[in-house]
This record gives sequence, structure tokens and C-alpha cells, in this order.
Amino acid sequence: MTATAHALVGGAIAYSIQNPILGVTLAFASHPLLDFIPHWDFGWGWRNKSKLKLFTEASLDLAVGIALSYFLFGQYVNFYYYVACLFGAVLWDLLEIPYWFFGWRFFPFSTLHSIQHHIQGKAKLPWGILTQVVTVAVIVFMLQIFR
Ligand SMILES: [Zn+2]
Repeated sequence: MTATAHALVGGAIAYSIQNPILGVTLAFASHPLLDFIPHWDFGWGWRNKSKLKLFTEASLDLAVGIALSYFLFGQYVNFYYYVACLFGAVLWDLLEIPYWFFGWRFFPFSTLHSIQHHIQGKAKLPWGILTQVVTVAVIVFMLQIFR
């Protein structure tokens, strides 16, 4: 999913789960689980995009995601706990940066890329955005049970 979706779920976990070990584990596990759901992402068709375009889009996506997630959830919880959950939720995609931008086609980057590539549920626009909005909303709502 987009970094925005991952960052929001990571933030919501920090906000709702009081136990930090459980929270960080959940945030980390949320990434591949979310990616199973059919969605659209900036990375689609990355081979046809210039590195600059891809980098700009990915950075904006991450910046918007972090800003939104901090505004909605992060500011209300322990800062370090929030950052740990955020980091756990987006780490998987951060680890793909060397593969994409430096051409590091070797372990563990290539392995991680191919795993992430294969579990991705792909959907075209606009449905691929809608599935993310709905998924994130449902997860945020469900997490409120723990608060
Ligand atoms: Zn991913």
C-alpha cells in the first residue's frame, strides 16, 4: 500500500495499543498483511518512471503519511513509542529503497523485493485508492476497541 496507509495504521496502533511490545510487533506485522489487500501504489510501473519522479512521489507519500499520522495519533502518545510503531509499519518499504534506487539486486534487498512483489494485491485506480481508505478506516475503527 502507499506509505500514507502504512503510516496511518502504524500511528493508530501506537494510539490504541498500550503494550509497546505488542504494538510494535503488530505495526511490523501490519505491513505485509495490508499489502495482501488489492490496492494501487506509486511503485506500480516503476520501471517506466524516472528515478527522480519515483523518488519525489515516494518522499511526498511518506511525508504526507507521517504528517497525517502524527496529527491524528502520534501527538497523543509517547513520542518514541509512536516513532517505533511508525517505523515498524513502513520499514518493509524503506528496505526496498536500495533495490529501487541503487540497483542493489542482492540479498536481502532482492529477496525482500520479490516477497513484497508477490504478495501485493494489485488494483487499478480509483478502486486501488478506495480499498486503502476503507481498509485504514476499518482498522482505525477496530483498534478503538483496545483503548
Ligand atoms: Zn510494502
